[in-house]
Amino acid sequence: MDLNIKTNEKNHLTIGGADVCDIVKEFGTPLYVIDENRIRENYQRFYNAFSKYYKDFKVFYACKANTNLAVMSILKDEGCCIDTVSPGEVYTCKKLGFSSDKILFTGNNIKNEEMKFVADEDVVLNIDSMSALKRLAEVINPNGTKISFRVNPMVEAGHHKHCITGGVMAKFGIMETEAVEAYKLAKKLGFNPVGMHSHIGSGILDPEPFKLAIKSTMDIAGKVHKEADIDFEFIDFGGGIGIPYTPDEKLLDIDNFAKENVELFKQKLQEYDMKEPTLYLEPGRYIVGDASVLLVSVNSVKQSYRKFIGTDAGFNTLLRPTMYGSYHHIVLANKMNEDPVEKVDVAGNVCESGDLFARDRFLPKIHEGDILGILNAGAYGFTMASNYNSRPLPAEVLISNGKPILVREEEKFDDLFNKQIIPDHLKN
Ligand SMILES: *Cc1c(COP(=O)(O)O)cnc(C)c1O
Repeated sequence: MDLNIKTNEKNHLTIGGADVCDIVKEFGTPLYVIDENRIRENYQRFYNAFSKYYKDFKVFYACKANTNLAVMSILKDEGCCIDTVSPGEVYTCKKLGFSSDKILFTGNNIKNEEMKFVADEDVVLNIDSMSALKRLAEVINPNGTKISFRVNPMVEAGHHKHCITGGVMAKFGIMETEAVEAYKLAKKLGFNPVGMHSHIGSGILDPEPFKLAIKSTMDIAGKVHKEADIDFEFIDFGGGIGIPYTPDEKLLDIDNFAKENVELFKQKLQEYDMKEPTLYLEPGRYIVGDASVLLVSVNSVKQSYRKFIGTDAGFNTLLRPTMYGSYHHIVLANKMNEDPVEKVDVAGNVCESGDLFARDRFLPKIHEGDILGILNAGAYGFTMASNYNSRPLPAEVLISNGKPILVREEEKFDDLFNKQIIPDHLKN
C-alpha cells in the first residue's frame, strides 16, 4: 500500500513522528495536522526528478491547494516558486516575501482592476482569453510587460469532471486556432509574450494524458514560434500530478514520469527548432496532499437503518468527499492494530444528508470517543473549508522535528459574525 501511514508501538497513528493521541490531548478536534518534513520530501523528490533530466527547471507550487502561511514558508525555504489564481494569493505571497519573479498568476475570468493589481506587482500573468489580453492593454501601459497565454491543449484528464480543465467543455485557456493571432496581437499591443501555459486537470495518476498534453501544447508552441516569431522564455505544463488516495492506487514513479516527459519536451523543441526555454510545472496536490491528516473525534455511534459513525467535523471542514465523491482513507487513529470487522458510514455533524466522509467503509469496531484520522487532507482541505452551519474553522498544527506547533488558531464564535453589520433600524 502506497498511502502515507505510520504507527508507533502504542498502536497510535503518528504524523511526522508525533503521536496523534498526544496532539489531540493538547489541541482537541477537529484538527488539521501538517507534517513539515513530508512537504519538504515531496518538493525535493519532485524537483530532483525533473532537474535531473532538464537543468533549467522551476517548480511553481499551486498554492490554492493549501495557503497556510507555514506551508508556504516551508516551500519558500526550499526555493520553490508559487502559482497563484487570485489577487489575494498574490498579496499573500508578497507578504511572505516571495519576489515577483517567483510568482506566476493563472487567473480565470478576472476583473480589469485585478489584472492591473497583479501586473503592478510585476507578476507575470497567464492570460486566459483574447478579451483579457485586450482589457489588460486598457488598464496598464503594456510597454514590454512580459505575459504568457494559457492554451487549451484539448486533452482531458482528472479525477472528477469538475477537475478536467482541457477539452471542448473547459472554460480555461485560448483555443489552439487563435493562439498565433493572440501572440501577434500581444506584440502589436506592446506586450512581450514570453511564455505558454497549459493545465489539463487534477489528480492524474496515469502518465499518458500528461504526455498527450505536452505533445499538444508543444505543437501549439511550435506553431506560435514559427508563425508569430516568438522565442519562449518559459513553457509551463501546469500541475495535476496525482497521489494515491485509495489503498489500491500506486504512487506515480516520478523519476520515470520526469524522464519520459522531458524526453518528449526536448523532441518537440528539436522538431520545431526552438531554443530551450525554462520548464515550469505547477504541482499542488503532489506537494501537500499526503502531508496532512484531519483528526476528528467520534461523537456518536448510531445503529439506524444503517450504522453511522458520527464525527465532530463535516463537509464544512473537508469538502472533497461531498463535492467530488472523493475517497479519503480513514483510520482508527488510537487503535491502529485493530482489524476491520464491519461496513459503516462515517458521517459529519452538518445538517445535510450529503455530509458523509465515507459510505460502506470496512472499518474496525469504533466506539464513541475514538479518534479517526482522515488521510490525505493536505490539498484542497482547509482551503475549501467554510463556516457553514455557523461552525468556526478548526485549528491547524504543524509537526516540525516531531514537535507540534500551533500554526492557526481555531476560530471563535465571534469570528462567525464580526464582519456583519446590523442596520440601525433593526437594533434596539
Ligand atoms: C489547481 C491548479 C494547479 C494544481 O493542480 P494540482 O492538481 O493540485 O496539482 C496547477 N495549475 C493551475 C493553473 C491550477 O489551477
